[in-house]
Amino acid sequence: MSGQAYQHKAKKSLGQNFLTDRNICRKIVDAITPSPEDHIIEIGPGQGALTEFLAEEELRQLTLVELDDGLADRLVGMYPKARVIRADALRFPWDSLNEEGGCKIIGNLPYNVGSKLIWDIVSKVKTLHRAVFMVQHEVAQRLTAEPGCKAYGGLTAWVRNFAQTRYLFKVPPTVFRPQPKVDSAVVCFVPRPVSDWPESPEALDRLIKMLFQMRRKQLSTILKPHWSEAMAAWFAEQGVSPSARPETLSPEQFRALSMLI
Ligand code: SAM
Repeated sequence: MSGQAYQHKAKKSLGQNFLTDRNICRKIVDAITPSPEDHIIEIGPGQGALTEFLAEEELRQLTLVELDDGLADRLVGMYPKARVIRADALRFPWDSLNEEGGCKIIGNLPYNVGSKLIWDIVSKVKTLHRAVFMVQHEVAQRLTAEPGCKAYGGLTAWVRNFAQTRYLFKVPPTVFRPQPKVDSAVVCFVPRPVSDWPESPEALDRLIKMLFQMRRKQLSTILKPHWSEAMAAWFAEQGVSPSARPETLSPEQFRALSMLI
């Protein structure tokens, strides 16, 4: 791999676990379905394991967002046609992409920031065509869980109000340097049409956080301070028992309920 001659000491604090298996890199890049009209943004390109394959594609634009200065310097030299942005992806103004036309986003995300980044990106980038992220296997299970499953949680309910998710494949620790302690997995996101996004993301965010802070409690107990006739009617109409637990509600039911509080 092109990054191997460079002696970079992996920083644990930046979640630096670099991919060393070219077949897996190719599979991840294929999953974003690159095409000449695409602007592809890669988060955390690191030593260029995925970038190498992205750079081979004919694209409208390739943007690389890397927090590590040393790695960013090197990427500028390696990929002169790419736009390299030295930034913390967690602070990146994702909604500014809405002024730039459509985009696709890809990344082998640092474990410690994966969920937070995905939470922001799916809800802020209205012009997103597709995203492909490698995350911790457990996070991939949460992103793709169905209501009622153990893995179904606040992240699932939030993300699925903005995008459909698909679990693509599992990746073992052995294909990284240094090796992480856990399995990883690749998830594909296809956004729902913006006309189908929640009317009030703020209300949905508040409700999801409130309900999943007390996920073992019954809905009627958690919602007691907000209980109203309209809410009782909604539960009856939806056939949801007030004694059910938060994880049994569908993403759409979270959205509808958030408008009643
Ligand atoms: N894409 C490379 C690969 O697959 O080998 C590197 C992946 S490594 C898991 C995560 C990368 O994200 C590292 O290059 C790290 O420096 C970078 N990174 C960590 N935190 C970041 C942040 N908040 N914003 C942007 N990049 C970040």
